[in-house]
Amino acid sequence: MPSTVAPPKKASSPAHPIGRFAPSPTGELHLGSLTTALASYCHIKSLGGTWLLRIEDTDTARCDRQFSEQILLDLEALALFWDGDVIYQSERTDIYNDYLADPLQPLTYACSCSRKQLNAYWDAQKQQANIQASGLSQALDNRQRYPRCCLNAGLDKTAHKLRLQMPDTLIGFADGIQDNCWQNPQQTVGDMVVRREDGIINYILAASIDDGLQGVTHIMRGLDILPMTSAQISVMHAARLPAVSHWYHLPLICHDNGQKLSKQNLAQPIDTRDPSRLLQYALQLLQQPAVDIDTPERMLAQAVQQWCQTPLIGQQVLNVAI
Ligand code: GLU
Repeated sequence: MPSTVAPPKKASSPAHPIGRFAPSPTGELHLGSLTTALASYCHIKSLGGTWLLRIEDTDTARCDRQFSEQILLDLEALALFWDGDVIYQSERTDIYNDYLADPLQPLTYACSCSRKQLNAYWDAQKQQANIQASGLSQALDNRQRYPRCCLNAGLDKTAHKLRLQMPDTLIGFADGIQDNCWQNPQQTVGDMVVRREDGIINYILAASIDDGLQGVTHIMRGLDILPMTSAQISVMHAARLPAVSHWYHLPLICHDNGQKLSKQNLAQPIDTRDPSRLLQYALQLLQQPAVDIDTPERMLAQAVQQWCQTPLIGQQVLNVAI
């Protein structure tokens, strides 16, 4: 039986709330990412806090400088002004490698398993489960998890991809929108690849380190990242970084046919030519009290004053007719 860690008690108000928006520039902002930006901005500003902007561009093959520039322009057009300097994760590889070399080192191991080998392993598992006509869903879940073939192989860490051991422990955290969550990172994520063979750093590793180093206290982000949260809590703990005290996972914006709005689904980029109408629409989508059409600055000031996440509580999907 895995050991159990009780969910933290609701933390008492931190001295200064720090939130952030952390887009990956693999495309332009769409309605889904805009609502995440807007909600995290209004929420942290309603607490009198600081709102940081971090560009999560570690995956240089998928990210594009053009997209990061457009994201900044779109946020500015909507008066979503961030505090301090923008951080670009592509410029911080040395920091992540330093963490892998020191506090996280005992948990890392090199892995030479190819995608093909792992798929063959998982297919065999699935077949086995079919033969036994039981535990199919368990076998499907296993698809996400690395079977630890290389854990004790002692391979050269500089020559292969690097995995990080995830604890086989239930971790609980209070989520201000999705209620109390319990996850076992070994079950949900498994030993994740934290550095690929080409040196690319995994985004949850980078996000965990940066959230800790930037002193982020409040994380409000999309529900699609929720399965990774206990892994992030584990990484931050192992890296001896300050814990995030408040988590909020926002419902996903979906087409009314149920399909999630995402870059993969070629969601339309936002059009900021009429920023006030766009803000009004995004606030409606977030089920916020109506704001008067005005300049984006004044609309945001009103939205911050009125901010209330209660209507979102327990919701996993917000539908848009597009
Ligand atoms: N970079 C992630 C994304 O664009 C968000 C990660 C996070 O907010 O922790 O989906």
